[in-house]
Amino acid sequence: MHRVPNPPKLPVFALAETRSRGDIRAAKARLAAMLLACLAACASTTAEIRADDAAVSSATETTAHPTATGNIVVVGTSQSRADFIGEHAETIRRAAFSQLLGETHPKPWLVCCEIHVHESADSFEQAVGGSPAEARGATSLEFSGDRVVTRRIDVMGDGPGIVPDAIDHEVVHVVLADHFIHAAPPRWADEGLALLFDTPEKQRGHEADFQDARRRGLTWSVADLLALEDYPADGPRQKIFYGQSAALVRWLIARRDAATFIRFLDDAAQVGMEAALDRHYAITSLVSVSSAWKEVAPINTLGLSQRRR
Ligand SMILES: [Zn+2]
Repeated sequence: MHRVPNPPKLPVFALAETRSRGDIRAAKARLAAMLLACLAACASTTAEIRADDAAVSSATETTAHPTATGNIVVVGTSQSRADFIGEHAETIRRAAFSQLLGETHPKPWLVCCEIHVHESADSFEQAVGGSPAEARGATSLEFSGDRVVTRRIDVMGDGPGIVPDAIDHEVVHVVLADHFIHAAPPRWADEGLALLFDTPEKQRGHEADFQDARRRGLTWSVADLLALEDYPADGPRQKIFYGQSAALVRWLIARRDAATFIRFLDDAAQVGMEAALDRHYAITSLVSVSSAWKEVAPINTLGLSQRRR
């Protein structure tokens, strides 16, 4: 469920894998091959694309017939399933751009999002560096100046559905990166927004984790949650973090709308969280935000969760 790594504070161009792979040259060749499939499907051609051609031509033979749907490349599963997953991911991409960022006609991604579907825990763990028991999806992003230069999602594909259960959530992280290009949104906000696209069942699970922690006095204070710069290290604290973050995001969006919430995050990065809360929500004290824990917006009333699987 994590978005990794953080966007660098200073522009850095890096094509290299963000995770340890053993054979970087093979990894680069695979990435270039994915780009070829993606570029064939992308409508526009630019100097940026042509710059990749040399690398692509030398790596074509390593392509394992990835499926490209325009903005998404799916690998690691059968052709028919990859086609279905790709179409679904495109639908979620459009929904996230429209409902969270107000972009009804988002620009195509010149660098496609690779979705790697893993059929075994070993394969997932080797790619991501973490067990699927902790999170069944992971997103990796790399940035250069005002562009995203790598978009990659790894998901477990061994569930009962044709579409892996973590896809929607991870696609939201990738879409948000287009807006938060120079600095990642706060962790709680990034996760809370992605959780809006999880199934109602999953969201209810996170809500239960949060309410249970609240009863036991284990939740974060508002100030601590808003200031949290990274994910909690241990599993039980992570569960509370996801539930509490989701509750806060739903509460704030319910007070206005998703567009206001995004503007609030933009301003918070400039003027600070408290000033931005005052400006967009007329909340003058962090203590008032604790109302979110008692007035939790019902699951999925915002109509953001997609059910097409
Ligand atoms: Zn996540």
